[in-house]
Amino acid sequence: APPRQSWMERLRAGLRKTGGSIAGVFSGTKIDDQLYEELEEALLLADTGVKATQFLLDDLKRRVKEARATDPQAVRALLVDALAQLLAPLEKGLEVGRFSPTVMMVVGVNGAGKTTSIGKLTRHLAEADQRVLLAAADTFRAAAREQLGVWADRAQVDIISQEGGDPAAVSFDAVNAGRARKADVVIADTAGRLPTQLHLMEELKKIKRVIGKAQADAPHEVLLVVDGNTGQNALNQVKAFDEALGLTGLIVTKLDGTAKGGVLAAIARERPVPVYFVGVGEKLEDLETFSAREFARALLE
Ligand code: GDP
Repeated sequence: APPRQSWMERLRAGLRKTGGSIAGVFSGTKIDDQLYEELEEALLLADTGVKATQFLLDDLKRRVKEARATDPQAVRALLVDALAQLLAPLEKGLEVGRFSPTVMMVVGVNGAGKTTSIGKLTRHLAEADQRVLLAAADTFRAAAREQLGVWADRAQVDIISQEGGDPAAVSFDAVNAGRARKADVVIADTAGRLPTQLHLMEELKKIKRVIGKAQADAPHEVLLVVDGNTGQNALNQVKAFDEALGLTGLIVTKLDGTAKGGVLAAIARERPVPVYFVGVGEKLEDLETFSAREFARALLE
């Protein structure tokens, strides 16, 4: 088998596919208005958003002046610094072990990669010798329950599931079962869309409330899974879920393939919720921890 590509390589390959190459802007010999204009355009095309793009350009110009850079390649290196600094607040690992169990509620719209990410996260935790219990609190979609069951089997972890049950009740049971079975981590998968007129956020708030009744300090983590390909939409989802539920972390998926990646800068500028993991493929091992500098380099080199 060919050696597995690093996620930087996959991200780069994705960027090349979408033509969102920012590095190309620095191929000339002069630092002039045209370079900055092309850079602005490339950053916007990479989903960086107006606010973060403006912030980065201002910061970059200041750095260029300070460093008295004269060569576009030096400007590119300074942009790596600027972006890495902007992204740094997102760089925070998921911590488990402080609570028994640590209770996580995972939210996100359908199709974002929520079920897959829970499978990856379960595998990641199981490899770190954590006892995981899954709760299938998306009781509306049979397919979601089944898929979660497949991941549970593969990772050899228990799952609490109840066809057509009340999502909050399933979560409540799972937290109690987690304590009884001495699980280290309980992960509740939630619905990304409801079949009725019921408001999704209200349903999720209820789950969160009821989890708190099963264990006073829980949930300890409210994780949003967001599709890295959806640009400003991803930022809007981060804002909406954060306002309703108070997010503690993000899993940003699909940063392989066609992702543009700049959306992380937009998130860092406008709603800096930590990125615990990034998804870089469909397989269970395709989950990586986020590094601000590595990411900045992948985007810009
Ligand atoms: P859910 O509806 O949010 O639970 O989404 P799923 O977990 O079912 O994923 C939706 C689709 O996205 C599936 O085809 C997954 O294989 C795919 N997917 C999830 N994460 C990633 C990722 O990081 N990279 C790629 N390329 N595909 C992903």
